[in-house]
Amino acid sequence: MFAFRNDRLLVLEGEDGVRVPRAPSPDDLGIESSFRRPVGRFDGSPSWALEVPEGVEAPEGMAFRDLRAIFAAVDEDFFAVAGRAKQIVGWHATHRFCGRCGGETEIATGELAMRCTRCGMMHYPRVSPAVIVRVRRGGEILLARSPGFPKGMSSVLAGFVEPGESIEETVRREVREEVGLEVGNLRYFGSQPWPFPNSLMIGFTADYAGGELTPEPGEIEAADWYRADDLPQLPPRVSIARRMIDDFVARTAG
Ligand SMILES: [Zn+2]
Repeated sequence: MFAFRNDRLLVLEGEDGVRVPRAPSPDDLGIESSFRRPVGRFDGSPSWALEVPEGVEAPEGMAFRDLRAIFAAVDEDFFAVAGRAKQIVGWHATHRFCGRCGGETEIATGELAMRCTRCGMMHYPRVSPAVIVRVRRGGEILLARSPGFPKGMSSVLAGFVEPGESIEETVRREVREEVGLEVGNLRYFGSQPWPFPNSLMIGFTADYAGGELTPEPGEIEAADWYRADDLPQLPPRVSIARRMIDDFVARTAG
């Protein structure tokens, strides 16, 4: 069961690693929930996303923890299902009323949607595409620090797709805006849902094609070129950012 109270996930305390409680059905979990939805299988069993109302305490031996604070300790399967559950609960919590007419919404039947009881407008979960790009210059990789990163950590660049923009245009614009560089040879790498709060990270690799490294004030605290054998502190293994950096290291070593 993946039960969220606001953005915090219900986990078992005092276990090795991070685990969520198991139960045959949401009713057997012993905690009140205001919304529930199946989110596929996890660890061999059907799993559920549950929304726990504010003010409801965790049962004995359990605690609500921030998903960001525990994701260094979970594997990709856990992160994927927990992230899906978090996004669905978050969507339900922020669509109680219609954005067009202000009417109350209800769960639609047959699809993942909230329907306005007054004007009938359907409200679907929002997914926000973002690019994440690994820029390479010969044997070096570009890594940068955003102000919101944990202290000491650097990563590849990322940014949201704007309306009317192709993903390739986003890659070129973000790199230009954030560090003042031009890139070429864009190649698709892979993608990953990123539930903070509802991104879909679309990964590309690119080669340096010109310009002087110029971090954008307010957005990038520092940016530099790194060799594979001299890297700073990196993002957690569960992230696509880390997979892209590890892939660079493996290619450089080979
Ligand atoms: Zn409406």
